[in-house]
Amino acid sequence: MPEAVLQRAASEMLDWQGSGMSVMEMSHRGKEFGAILAQAEANLRQLLAIPAQFHVLFMQGGGLGENAIVPLNLSRGKSVDFVVTGSWSQKSLKEAQRYCSAHLAASNAEGGHTSLPDPARWQLTDGASYVHVCSNETIHGVEFQQLPDLAALGSTAPLVIDFSSHVASRSVDWTRVGLAFGGAQKNLGPAGLTLVIVRDELLGDALDICPSAFNYKTVADNQSMYNTPPTWAIYMAGLTFQWLLQQREGELAGVAAMEARNVAKASLLYDFIDASAFYANKVAPNCRSRMNVPFFLADESRNEAFLAGAREAGLLQLKGHKSVGGMRASIYNAMPLAGVQALVGYMREFERLHA
Ligand SMILES: *Cc1c(COP(=O)(O)O)cnc(C)c1O
Repeated sequence: MPEAVLQRAASEMLDWQGSGMSVMEMSHRGKEFGAILAQAEANLRQLLAIPAQFHVLFMQGGGLGENAIVPLNLSRGKSVDFVVTGSWSQKSLKEAQRYCSAHLAASNAEGGHTSLPDPARWQLTDGASYVHVCSNETIHGVEFQQLPDLAALGSTAPLVIDFSSHVASRSVDWTRVGLAFGGAQKNLGPAGLTLVIVRDELLGDALDICPSAFNYKTVADNQSMYNTPPTWAIYMAGLTFQWLLQQREGELAGVAAMEARNVAKASLLYDFIDASAFYANKVAPNCRSRMNVPFFLADESRNEAFLAGAREAGLLQLKGHKSVGGMRASIYNAMPLAGVQALVGYMREFERLHA
């Protein structure tokens, strides 16, 4: 979370703008929360340049919830294609198989999830209801630098993207997207809010077994208020949207400014790792994530010492995911360049002492 957002929330914690209530105490149907929700949606639309034909839904259930909710809403009794590029898309495929005929169209499992399969070779199913990709694989550190153009591949299926771990870190080419979903907890706010941004034409065809509270049309028709939305999380994400809109890098503003900052942060870390024989990142350079940088020490017996020293230097949560091992630096939007500089400084010093 950006520190400025936490400060602002702290200052309004007991009394939101003279209302005499904390946001947590408001009726979700009252005018105060109505204003918070409307502002959050307007700011998000501006921030991500979301076209008018898309609905913005503020839901719950997280990314894993969406792994079921998307097929329940969009599969329409037909096949669905998945491109597996790491743990998250693998989970999405497995969950979808409970609700529809889910087909593996391409995978990078052979290389240990360190590349992106060339879209020209994806084996797309004729008439599939949609094609799912995870646009940033958080655990394996693989990111689509541009979204696949399904129309150019001869497909009319809408593209579904799980953008949980890089939402608002870069712009989105909405001409290529049918639906985007993401948990808020990586780049936007506290856990508990799930964003769904979906084209109007995809609503209204949910399977009968789809829970009403997870039916996109029902949620859209009720302005995300069919049931009580996660009010506090929406408020916090709304503050983050405002903060993001205010960010500047030279001439750039908002997400473009964040993207420039994220490129600078990621390049600093990858360039350092590539120049060192002591550290390694195994992901192909054309699909390295700007948000999640997994890396390994050449001598893994030093992992514990590396992490202990990092903790002492105030550099936290660097242990890699257990399925991959090694280290992982998650350098989300709110991480300033100075944080990455501190990490690289520590890594350089650790190498000097132990190489
Ligand atoms: C973190 C993450 C999720 C999270 O799912 P939850 O159900 O919110 O825990 C889903 N997809 C991706 C790509 C993620 O990084």
